[in-house]
Amino acid sequence: MEVTTPLRDFPGVGDARAKGLERLGLRTAGDLTAYFPRGYEDRREQYTIAAAPLDVPVCIPVLLAEEPRRMNIRRGLDVTRMKVVDGASAMLVTFFNQGYVRQALHRGEEYILYGKVEQMGNHRQMTNPQFEPAARPRFTGCIMPVYPLTAGVSNNLLAGLVQRALEELPPAAESLPEDFRAAHGLAPAAECYRNIHFPDSFENLEAARRRFSFEELFYLSLGLALLRERRSRGEGPVFQAAELEAFERLLPFALTGAQRRAVREAAADMTSGRPMNRLVQGDVGSGKTAVAAACAWLAFRAGWQCAMMAPTEILAEQHARSLSVLLAPAGMTVGLLTGSMRAAEKRAVYAALGSGALSFVVGTHALLSEGVTFQRLGLVITDEQHRFGVEQRSALAAKANPAGAARPHVLVMSATPIPRTLALIIYGDLDVSVIDELPPGRIPVRTLLVGESKRRRMYGFVREQVRAGRQVYIVCPAVEENPESEWDLKAVNEYARVLREEVFPEFRVGLVHGKLKAREKEAAMAAFTAGETDILVCTTVIEVGVDVPNANLIIIENADRYGLSQLHQLRGRVGRGAHQSWCVLVSDNRNPETRARLKVLTDTSDGFKIAEEDLKLRGPGDFFGARQHGLPVLRVADFNTDARVLKEAQDAAAELLAGDPALALPIHRPLLEKVRGLFEENPDMFN
Ligand code: ADP
Ligand code: MG
Repeated sequence: MEVTTPLRDFPGVGDARAKGLERLGLRTAGDLTAYFPRGYEDRREQYTIAAAPLDVPVCIPVLLAEEPRRMNIRRGLDVTRMKVVDGASAMLVTFFNQGYVRQALHRGEEYILYGKVEQMGNHRQMTNPQFEPAARPRFTGCIMPVYPLTAGVSNNLLAGLVQRALEELPPAAESLPEDFRAAHGLAPAAECYRNIHFPDSFENLEAARRRFSFEELFYLSLGLALLRERRSRGEGPVFQAAELEAFERLLPFALTGAQRRAVREAAADMTSGRPMNRLVQGDVGSGKTAVAAACAWLAFRAGWQCAMMAPTEILAEQHARSLSVLLAPAGMTVGLLTGSMRAAEKRAVYAALGSGALSFVVGTHALLSEGVTFQRLGLVITDEQHRFGVEQRSALAAKANPAGAARPHVLVMSATPIPRTLALIIYGDLDVSVIDELPPGRIPVRTLLVGESKRRRMYGFVREQVRAGRQVYIVCPAVEENPESEWDLKAVNEYARVLREEVFPEFRVGLVHGKLKAREKEAAMAAFTAGETDILVCTTVIEVGVDVPNANLIIIENADRYGLSQLHQLRGRVGRGAHQSWCVLVSDNRNPETRARLKVLTDTSDGFKIAEEDLKLRGPGDFFGARQHGLPVLRVADFNTDARVLKEAQDAAAELLAGDPALALPIHRPLLEKVRGLFEENPDMFN
């Protein structure tokens, strides 16, 4: 057998099974050994019926004492029952909807059952156990792998095939040099492949898992370092160094120290002759827009165009407005390009960008449309980058150099405080500037958690604030993002109506949600921004970046429905002006875990701390949603538990690259292949 041996050549694999296996991505013997279990069953111990512990799965050798009996309970429910015995006692075994067991099991034969024993009065029973003949047990006595499955492929089939492949294939080749393995305490490859599938102890399984996650994170770290190296290679547009003080004098405020530092770091990149790839990370309200404006101004002075991409139309429009305010005094015009603009308007923007008449455009994904060409694009800015994939970022950058000339500078702005371990991965290919200081004079937002019983008082508080001239957001869970929510569009509309007509008839109540047409959304947002509405009922469309300094109260209905980081983002909509601000989380959820989670928000306003808690409580899925980032999907490594391994893998990668920055040495060729393999979903990243 060889790694390339097709699965159809395995005994017992016909057309149907081969098709099923193919759905799992399994075609060859080599695919099998690389298909890792998602869990394990400890089948090492065997028990008698009487001595078996209850409610945990165990192996019990039994004799089938009678023919399986079929009982047709009702359509769609097929029950097969049988009595089994061992030397001392008997037990009833029931299979639901597994009629085939009548053919598979025979009276008088011995089987080993694997399942949970339940006690009913004074007799014991088992439901839907797995079984194998006692005379030829294949999986009893071992730690049994449990694989991700699909219709027509049972775990036993897959485990059997993997077992065979492990036995008959030559031992897996070692991809890591021995002294490297020794230095990092990593077990040999061949041993690890055996142990990840059929470990003889949980210690050995852990050793195998450690090796594979280390390897995965090591290749990932190498890949990201190579990407960074490659991106910063080549020529970038050269902006002239400029006196930033000249720009600051045009601003309505003095930059904070942190903003100034971020601008300086970006300016150093952009004047270096190499392309910039920089992430500016700053909590909500830290003033990232001004940093972007300063960079755009540098581009403008050097005669280059700048494009900024935002995740939603509302944000793009708002950015265009606020950047106009900041940049108009410098003589710059900021254009807007969104999908919902009229064709004629779009064409005008295309033309202005193509001729170079427009030096700065802000837009949505519409910037990636075919019609968009630039005369001389020198700087690409993306806002709230966690919503964009790496590919989109580079797609916009690619607009700069259809002919393969200089890469534009790339500035990524993110308000999502990402825990350091994850940031290293998600933004591994970027240099980072952190804005860790809020503009002066900010009064921290006070956050309260209240139940339904406080609703009247809460509305009273809204009234007080509006009478004092302030504005209020009331957020309902977004229908479009949360299909299980009972807040459907009707409920949101109805709630807005009740607030408008019954609760606050004396105030102007606006409504904005994701299902509105772009123009209606824009009108509702514009009215609120201009102070023409007092209360804005909204869904999470306002989550990112919306800036209305006069709004000082945000009420979040069903707050338990959101992740902490999302609540923190929502809370960031207030506390932007000179007035004391409040965030009221409404939830009647009594679950102690939920309350503890929400309490994190009432206790801290540190976005990084909140993100760490979120990660602990909800796992990295939110930050690291599968392919969203264009980065590889990891099979073994888990960011929650493997933070130490990650650090070690990164150090190892850095050390290796210090000696051979592009992995160009012949002895490193196999490593380069591994890295390419890991990034195979994005082959163009390494071409
Ligand atoms: P974010 O980092 O969330 O994008 P913004 O750029 O929207 O923050 O800035 C938030 C608010 O703070 C805006 O109203 C902006 O005008 C104001 N701001 C930004 N920088 C400063 C500063 N250095 N001093 C005073 N106000 C500032
Ligand atoms: Mg912003």
